[in-house]
Amino acid sequence: MVEPFVAKSLTGWGRIAPRVCHVYRPEKPRLIENILRDLSQPHFIARGLGRSYGDTAVNEGGGVIDFARLNRMMRFDPATGVLECEAGVTLAEIIETFLPRGFFLPVTPGTKFVTVGGAIANDVHGKNHHRDGTFGQFVLDFGLYTPEGHLLLCSPEDNPDLFWATVGGIGLTGVILTARIRLQPVRSAYIVADYHKSRDLDDALATFEASDARYQYSVAWVDCLARGAMLGRCILMRGNHADPAQLPGSLAAKPFDVRPRRDKRVPVDCPAFLLNPLNVRVFNNLFYGMHRSVEGQIIDYDRYFYPLDQIHDWNRLYGRRGFVQYQATLPTESAKGLVALLERLSTERRGSFLGVLKRFGDAGPGLLSHPMKGYTLTLDIPNRTGLVPFLRELDRILLDHGGRLYLAKDAVAAPETVAVMYPDLDRFREIKGRVDPENRLSSSMARRLGIVGV
Ligand SMILES: Cc1cc2nc3c(=O)[nH]c(=O)nc-3n(C[C@H](O)[C@H](O)[C@H](O)COP(=O)(O)OP(=O)(O)OC[C@H]3O[C@@H](n4cnc5c(N)ncnc54)[C@H](O)[C@@H]3O)c2cc1C
Repeated sequence: MVEPFVAKSLTGWGRIAPRVCHVYRPEKPRLIENILRDLSQPHFIARGLGRSYGDTAVNEGGGVIDFARLNRMMRFDPATGVLECEAGVTLAEIIETFLPRGFFLPVTPGTKFVTVGGAIANDVHGKNHHRDGTFGQFVLDFGLYTPEGHLLLCSPEDNPDLFWATVGGIGLTGVILTARIRLQPVRSAYIVADYHKSRDLDDALATFEASDARYQYSVAWVDCLARGAMLGRCILMRGNHADPAQLPGSLAAKPFDVRPRRDKRVPVDCPAFLLNPLNVRVFNNLFYGMHRSVEGQIIDYDRYFYPLDQIHDWNRLYGRRGFVQYQATLPTESAKGLVALLERLSTERRGSFLGVLKRFGDAGPGLLSHPMKGYTLTLDIPNRTGLVPFLRELDRILLDHGGRLYLAKDAVAAPETVAVMYPDLDRFREIKGRVDPENRLSSSMARRLGIVGV
């Protein structure tokens, strides 16, 4: 039977370039077979919660398989922390179910509104990459449905090529139906956090280098409009999971209870003038000014890992034209490239609210996985006139310093740029060609970047 679909205008989280796609919402994994056979669509791509910023889960004129209803948890082994679930299960659902039992995600991005399938397909990283690596490194195996109609079990031992092409493979090698992931045991829902106010970029990098080994989690909020001697000033927030003995009495008695947050919502698209450079500079100054260097703060996991999730639809703050999130990673030896990026941004006055700076550990085996040893800087850039030429300039700086962009965030990069940044792209294409010779899996991003022919 042919599955029904709805024509819908979709974007990524940055809300630029809406595209009409044909959205399927299967309720059972076996329906995916019928969907992929539907020849009325030229191609398909899977979609989780659409938290990638650009067009990786958008498929103009083709099919999009929405995983929202494929969100069952099948098995959990408390002895090993291994959870088996469908790919549409969200990180929020995993936390809600397993944190009260003493388990947390092994790696989490800065939002919990992400599916397991999306986390694998972008091989997401968190504030613990310097220690623990990416999400894919905690995936024991997954069931991958290929467009040729095969359900393959993939793991680092079974079909390893396909496993590491799919981890970070932006949905192009097959549809992940289920996965087994290893959660980490924790003894409370709290983090002991140390805050350090860095006066400039050199101070921030030196602090990361000197002390990162003491912290499982480490991140900095950067004032990306600061200039001159203050260029790159930031607030480092580093932390470890708290032991109940470190919690004050009331919390120690119930270490997994967290006071619920009162979440807010941005109800409308904000007018563009609100984001003028003056307002943003005032906000960043206030943020920097209100923090001080302090150690041993107890903060619950939700406020530590997911501050932005408190404001639903916060992407509407950037108005109707949306924004891009530019995530640039530079190898450790080229960390000075960060200065060039920040200088360009503050001179052009295009930066927005705080940027994020993290230190990455070694690269993993995912062919298109983003992280590599070095520093990663993430910036929100509003969509104003001249955006693309400006981003091309930033790309040039990145290329000159041996850096790379993160595909989960990208919306406009040129194919030749990405080909240089991801040297395993040809190997990836070769593996994709084996399991999907007709290119039934494609996306607006895959065609824009020439990963798949038009
Ligand atoms: C506020 C915020 C903070 C963020 N912080 C971070 C961060 O710290 N680190 C980080 O790495 N990322 C971060 N991200 C990006 C986000 O984690 C990734 O883009 C993530 O992949 C989104 O998951 P999703 O479920 O929304 O998937 P989508 O965005 O819908 O899709 C992402 C990719 O996964 C593929 N996909 C989805 N489901 C399947 C499936 N079942 N089978 C095969 N392919 C599938 C899609 O085709 C697409 O290529 C952040 C995003 C936001 C909005």
